[in-house]
Amino acid sequence: MTEYAPLDFRSDTVTRPDETMRLAMAGAEVADDVLDHDPTMRLLEERVAELLGVEAALWVPSGSMGNLIALTLHLRPGDRFLAPRGAHVLDSELGTAAWIAGGMPHPLECDAGPGQVSAEAVRAAAGAAGPYYTLRTALLCLENTHNSAGGAVTQPDRHALLVSAAKETGLRVHLDGARLWNAAVALGLPPAALAVGVDTVQVCLSKGLGAPVGSVVAGSAAFATEARRVRKMLGGGVRQGGVLAAAGLVALGRVDDLAVDHANARALARGLTELGWQVDEPETNIVLASVPDLEVTLTGLRHLGVFAGPMAGRVRFVLHRDVGGDDVAEALRRIGSVS
Ligand SMILES: *Cc1c(COP(=O)(O)O)cnc(C)c1O
Repeated sequence: MTEYAPLDFRSDTVTRPDETMRLAMAGAEVADDVLDHDPTMRLLEERVAELLGVEAALWVPSGSMGNLIALTLHLRPGDRFLAPRGAHVLDSELGTAAWIAGGMPHPLECDAGPGQVSAEAVRAAAGAAGPYYTLRTALLCLENTHNSAGGAVTQPDRHALLVSAAKETGLRVHLDGARLWNAAVALGLPPAALAVGVDTVQVCLSKGLGAPVGSVVAGSAAFATEARRVRKMLGGGVRQGGVLAAAGLVALGRVDDLAVDHANARALARGLTELGWQVDEPETNIVLASVPDLEVTLTGLRHLGVFAGPMAGRVRFVLHRDVGGDDVAEALRRIGSVS
């Protein structure tokens, strides 16, 4: 049997810190961030707040913790929150939005395209206050790009309509922007243009940007102060975190590189289509393919050294900085050899 070199398309989280990033980490200026701020973490937080057009930001160990901190501060027991069906905060955070943040999740059907909800759907679900024993709808949680919908991008005009619908109906808005960088690059806009009007936003440094650890949750200065307390409650306060923030600062310099991942995603989708696969046209770095039997396909791919993952009943290939154009061509050659 042929021994294939592994090509890992399971996620953009598999990216490993390169030499430049490791050197920056080794040389980082540090202090105890739990006691009185680490200078490198502070620098990273200021940079991200600026990029997102908000007052302040807080480094957190993971995107899930960033979302959880925001939801904890937005929700009280007896509240409910709205999110597009398939959202990470609904399906992939072990229900912490409910059992820690205390909110009852209410999925909105994606009535305006893959991963997209309409402003009308938000208004209808927000509704008017009912009798005292009904849930209060308190929050709209958006996701850009929408992961399980294949990295679908929410356009700034739709974003604006959703934010106004939320504000009109008395909802706050949290944006899960784990891959907001990808949306910004795909649209050729600054990330801040996609976070206009939100109360809080979470962005990941550890996906396509390649940092080993870290996300940032951002909003008003008052939010960041409270978020720091909740982070500590959750065990997410770290001491000389500058070592990790230094990787984040290098990662921020790599946002433009995401365009390469997007081009590679289009090339992979094109190649698979030519081989007879049923594939959606990717908007960013995620390619979803519909197959008759998911397990059979994933196992078959694995035998070819092509690692993909399951996502909402389909095969998900994620493009990232550790798989290049040559790797895409090689994956297509291997898949073509058995089709
Ligand atoms: C990855 C991801 C997160 C959470 O990130 P972790 O760092 O893995 O906790 C949140 N939202 C979306 C859409 C994601 O893809």
